[in-house]
Amino acid sequence: MKKYIALFLIVVSLSRAYYIYNRHGAQCRDDSSSIDQQMVHFLQEYIRINTTHPTPDYESALTFLKKHAHQDGFAYQEVALPSGKKVLIITLQGSDPSLQPLALNHHMDVVPALDAEQWITPPFAGQLYQNHIVGRGAQDMKGIAALHYYALKEFKQTYGQPRRTVHLFAVPDEEIGGFTGTQEFVKTDTFKKLNIGYVIDEGHASGNRHILDIKVAERKPIQIEVTSYGALAHGSHLQADNAIHTLITFLQELITIHRAQQQLIGTKQPGELLSCNITSLTAGIKKENGHIALNMVPDCARATVDIRVPPGCACSEIITILENLIKGYPTLEYTILARAHEEPKIDNYETRLYKKLAQSIKEYGLDTRPHFFEASSDLRFYQALGIEGVGLTPFTIEDNIHGTNESVPVPQLIRGKEIFVQFLKDFCSP
Ligand SMILES: [Zn+2]
Repeated sequence: MKKYIALFLIVVSLSRAYYIYNRHGAQCRDDSSSIDQQMVHFLQEYIRINTTHPTPDYESALTFLKKHAHQDGFAYQEVALPSGKKVLIITLQGSDPSLQPLALNHHMDVVPALDAEQWITPPFAGQLYQNHIVGRGAQDMKGIAALHYYALKEFKQTYGQPRRTVHLFAVPDEEIGGFTGTQEFVKTDTFKKLNIGYVIDEGHASGNRHILDIKVAERKPIQIEVTSYGALAHGSHLQADNAIHTLITFLQELITIHRAQQQLIGTKQPGELLSCNITSLTAGIKKENGHIALNMVPDCARATVDIRVPPGCACSEIITILENLIKGYPTLEYTILARAHEEPKIDNYETRLYKKLAQSIKEYGLDTRPHFFEASSDLRFYQALGIEGVGLTPFTIEDNIHGTNESVPVPQLIRGKEIFVQFLKDFCSP
């Protein structure tokens, strides 16, 4: 029996040594590996807290984050929002109050995993598979939260107090637009008193092993509904005032704009271009049995269009273009169902924050490029206040935000943390 126990212990220690070697190669240090292992466990646990809508378990997420902050000796406070949701702020106080604080922002919520049976491991199990942490939120953005937190913890253990104060923000509801999360948070007195100068939020994995993308700007959504009116008529009527025909003719103008922008992909990033996607079309007269009447021209037709406005172009400019277009169609009406009200005005994307971050990344042998994001995130709420902000997901794997088998390789999580430690040193304790 003793022989088996001894054999078991040898196997365990060998596999642990192999595990550490595997992650660090020859430069392995056991003290640093323990913080890395803690970070891996942190991410696994965070993934296991199900924060999907419509019933995200924010209380458990907050309890989890507060437990860590308490254990590691960080100051923290909760901010209650008008929506009833909460934001958690974890702070490492700086010594120089003349330096404006930096905030590392992450959202606690994740999108659902509707295809759970397609995953290699269950999406909320936080399991390791071939040295990847697999789970919903691994990239978007609990993985980023893990490396933000452990970068701050390692910085504190290694260098003590920074000159510039650093805050970690854990915010709710980004995945449902941020209206009941960051949009409310930035209006609170607590936020205003923090006097934040710089924010780093999420970006996307670059999919290029030599480069990290630094998000500098985002597009702004305008979602409209267009309704076309005509006369109800028989399908055989040549002179019918056809509501559908008028709607299609108008939509064709939007398609022409959209296609012209598509031609520019290659010379510009999609996030620098305008898109007009028709997202629904509704028309037709239904009979009592629920089938469409094939011989009736309806008196009404509707479409919805999702328009994304690139940075450098104001939403109001696009609305003016739409209004001028629509004037040519007296039987059309349009309504704006949703639109962005934050319009950050940025003249130069390669800000001081961008350059400092790029410099810290370069120390890890990676190049950077400014990234214009096709959609939008919480970053817009900060940028609209004139706060210098960028987005960084420091992974070079393929972007798999919201996808099946969302995952992050352990070595990339560790390198991401190290990049942030380096950046905190360069930017907050120069
Ligand atoms: Zn996200």
